[in-house]
Amino acid sequence: MANPESKSISSLIMPGEATSSCWSCGTMRAEHFCSACGKVQPPVPVDYFTFFGLQRRLNVDVESLEREFYLLSRKLHPDLYSRADKREQEWSLEQSSLLNDAYRTLKDPIKRTEYLLRLEGVELEEQSKTATEKARATGEVKKQIVPPDLLEEVFELNMQLEEARMNKKLGEADPALVKDLEAHKDAFQKKSEALSEELKSHWDEWDRVTESNNQDDRRPALDRMVDLLNRRSYIKNLVRDVNEALGN
Ligand SMILES: [Zn+2]
Repeated sequence: MANPESKSISSLIMPGEATSSCWSCGTMRAEHFCSACGKVQPPVPVDYFTFFGLQRRLNVDVESLEREFYLLSRKLHPDLYSRADKREQEWSLEQSSLLNDAYRTLKDPIKRTEYLLRLEGVELEEQSKTATEKARATGEVKKQIVPPDLLEEVFELNMQLEEARMNKKLGEADPALVKDLEAHKDAFQKKSEALSEELKSHWDEWDRVTESNNQDDRRPALDRMVDLLNRRSYIKNLVRDVNEALGN
């Protein structure tokens, strides 16, 4: 049933990407479904951008991503394949879960950026709670550089946090201290929001770099994003510490 016309068209549209043929009808397959017979295809190992047919750009039209997500989730819904070929059932499940992961990652500005950085081979600093606790337990010095513009504030904050922890242990209340800590927290949250705004200008830069394909500009563009994300996660950890000390 292979249709020679659609075969030549799809091989023109997707050079080098969909090189295998449909398991069912033998036509050159499209990404998720066969372009000729419509059968679900086994997932190919692709990154999330490619899964949605997107280029590795950071400015993403989230509305059209969402539309595409809902369209594909309807078409891949496992219920539709309950009577289909066993393999097709499995593939619809696999493709659905890939779809969910890809969508969840790409729709979120921070996750999308972190994902792209990993794709580009960048390791982000581990500032997660587990990393912090592990460092505390083993006594090793965790690589966590205080952003220079926060040095003074963090110094003050750490003393107040100590005090708050002590108060908590002794069951004493210090409303002024609590108010101070809340104020710090608000300030950190505002900084974090400002960083999220700033990140968008780095997206623009990255998208321009990928468009011009200038290899020399790639690294500095990536570095700026890494630096920003590290500052942001540092601040996030401070907010977490304040919450813990306040017993929130
Ligand atoms: Zn087919």
